[in-house]
Amino acid sequence: MTIAEALRDAVHRLAAAGVKEAQKDARLLLSFALGRPKEFLFAHPEYKLSEEEQGSFDEAVHRRENHEPVQYITGRTEFYGLELIVSPAVLIPRPETEILVENAVNALRGKTAPRFCEIGVGSGCISVSLLRELPNAAAIAVDLSPDALELARRNAERHNVLGRLDLRLSDVFDSVVEDAFDAVVSNPPYISLDEVAELDSEVRDFEPRMALTDGADGLGVIQRIIEDSYHKLAAGGVLFMEIGHCQSESVRTLLSPEKWFDVRFFTDLQSIPRVLRAFRL
Ligand code: GLN
Repeated sequence: MTIAEALRDAVHRLAAAGVKEAQKDARLLLSFALGRPKEFLFAHPEYKLSEEEQGSFDEAVHRRENHEPVQYITGRTEFYGLELIVSPAVLIPRPETEILVENAVNALRGKTAPRFCEIGVGSGCISVSLLRELPNAAAIAVDLSPDALELARRNAERHNVLGRLDLRLSDVFDSVVEDAFDAVVSNPPYISLDEVAELDSEVRDFEPRMALTDGADGLGVIQRIIEDSYHKLAAGGVLFMEIGHCQSESVRTLLSPEKWFDVRFFTDLQSIPRVLRAFRL
């Protein structure tokens, strides 16, 4: 089978399985199975796949037919210009989270040696990209999942920031005795249990449940992070947290004006408030 034939066949199978971006996914999976960049596919449509290549492509297409996210099949994704390793142990980094990173970079750039703490590091996308952008920064990043911590460690190593990143197993701040941080950052599990049932099956059936929901109304972990961050931040320190698409009003009520100032929400491309920024008094 040639590249052109393999692609045609895969697009057909994926479309029949109801995969929306069949063409794009088929190319990604074939370039993964061949271990070659996408440009190779365009340049060599007549290339004949070896038996082994054909087998691994077939397996990848089969997984995608079952609606497993492409990123879990290839084990790779892009975030903030970095290639990251992902596995089903972690949430696939989302573009909304880049809004958090961009604003946290802006807030910390002026400091000489900023220290921040991340709650729920997952793949490490937030901490690794912040440390890349802020060469004098150091961080403590925690997660409840040992597998997530291992993946974050590999991503930090890959991007040469492991020396400035202290990774710990911890439920919120339980293993963090340090304080006076310049920033706390988090993309917490903010989806309510009811909403989980309505999620796209690609998310609901494949991404880690503990990364998505608190198992209740979606505000549980958010509330803990806000309460504890007050004690962990230096005066004038800043909390950045991603929130769900209808949560900004409820979250605002959790930020007492005796403790927090300059509260604002950054919006995503659909003008939905998605990232909280609040300064500690
Ligand atoms: N910090 C990681 C991310 O933003 C993991 C977040 C999570 O698992 N809720 O993708």
